[in-house]
Amino acid sequence: MSYTEEVYERVVAQNPGEPEFHQAVKEVLDSLKVVIDKNEEEYRKLSILERLVEPERIVSFRVPWVDDKGNVQINKGYRVQFNSAIGPYKGGLRFHPSVNQSILKFLGFEQIFKNSLTGLPIGGGKGGSNFDPKGKSDREVMAFCQSFMTELCKYIGADTDVPAGDIGVGGREIGYLFGQYKRIRGLYEGVLTGKGLTYGGSLIRTQATGYGVVYMLNEIMKAHKDSPEGKTAVVTGSGNVAIYAVEKLTQLGGKVVAMNDSNGYIYDPNGINLDVVKDIKEVKRGRIKEYADRVPGSTYTEGKGIWNIKCDIYLPCATQNELDIDGAKTLVANGCKYIVEGANMPTTLEATTYVMENGVLFMPGKAANAGGVATSALEMSQNSMRLSWTAEEVDEKLHNIMKDIFKKVDDAAKRYDMPENYVVGANIAGFEKVVDAMKAQGIV
Ligand code: NDP
Repeated sequence: MSYTEEVYERVVAQNPGEPEFHQAVKEVLDSLKVVIDKNEEEYRKLSILERLVEPERIVSFRVPWVDDKGNVQINKGYRVQFNSAIGPYKGGLRFHPSVNQSILKFLGFEQIFKNSLTGLPIGGGKGGSNFDPKGKSDREVMAFCQSFMTELCKYIGADTDVPAGDIGVGGREIGYLFGQYKRIRGLYEGVLTGKGLTYGGSLIRTQATGYGVVYMLNEIMKAHKDSPEGKTAVVTGSGNVAIYAVEKLTQLGGKVVAMNDSNGYIYDPNGINLDVVKDIKEVKRGRIKEYADRVPGSTYTEGKGIWNIKCDIYLPCATQNELDIDGAKTLVANGCKYIVEGANMPTTLEATTYVMENGVLFMPGKAANAGGVATSALEMSQNSMRLSWTAEEVDEKLHNIMKDIFKKVDDAAKRYDMPENYVVGANIAGFEKVVDAMKAQGIV
């Protein structure tokens, strides 16, 4: 049995009941096999892979808070500090009822390679809670955030661990979390990113992940003498990443005809009117089906199946494992040419293999959605220097980072004789820097 297979079996045996974490580890280790095989003895001697798959630390805690009816509610809180070889832990906080240790470990593990690909000095981490902000009043969200931060603040800091937003954690939640950190620690420091512009946030951070996904798509298309101009696209989700992916893709001449949320999807053959989506999601915190009531000519379909809509470009920007093998087969049959992941691991392993074997150019989330964390790192730099860059400056840096990531991923795939296999390219390019730093720092 090869070293990568051995370590994968060990991960499954030692981390029972964590299927998402197993899936993320399998994808990475399968990609790294070609690198490890070349130097297996040295990697084995240093137990590099065993160290890579074991988080440096996981903190889990109780989050008690009082709802509007006066009832005491209890949620679980976590922070997974996965790998600090190349910088302080960096990665979002997710508030969603599905959150558990497996999901946060998969996200923290992916984050190591993603952060490495940005070229910036940030390690991998992730955290969150099974709290559901949906349907809660602002006061309830604040009460929860304050209680969550009362415990989390013991483990984070501007030079140790800098969380950001993720599903269910946007500007409102970051504001409440930052306020409580400052109050308890007495420190006005860049301990969180995604902050509001009046208190240390960076311009373009809100747009960064979605814009970055489309900058990446554009690089892939350019490399294949193609462009988004005149192409039809489907973007899943209707949250932060999806909205700004639609905005940038539309600016580049693409036509996005469908979006969804966890209840169902809308189809608008005239191209999505993003102002309406922003009003529903960012202002009213409503459901995507309201779009069909407001925009003539559009339709709403309850349930899954957004992939049935014919498109050239598919950007999954909602959640993990949303695109399965049936969806993948439908996309291929309908002539889809590009899949660029805005969400983390939105495509199952089986679906990923299928689309890649059937001529789709597929870019994994850890490369494609890295613009968010990269801009978070730019926010950290601005906070440390106590200055603010203009929107144009940040956008240009983001654009250059995405071009650079594409080049690194493309180069690594070519170096290992697997051109256009961006999954392998992203994992190898991300791994190379981290492993170098781990080796240099000894057995820690
Ligand atoms: P948001 O909470 O802003 O939006 C998530 C969206 O996905 C919502 O529209 C939500 O709908 C939808 N969704 C959730 N589950 C499903 C489902 N099962 N089927 C269909 N739609 C679903 O989160 P973000 O946009 O921030 O994050 C989206 C993805 O991008 C996540 O995987 C996240 O980890 C990843 N990501 C985010 C970054 C960021 O900067 N925000 C950075 C890098 C990656 P509903 O309202 O019904 O729940």
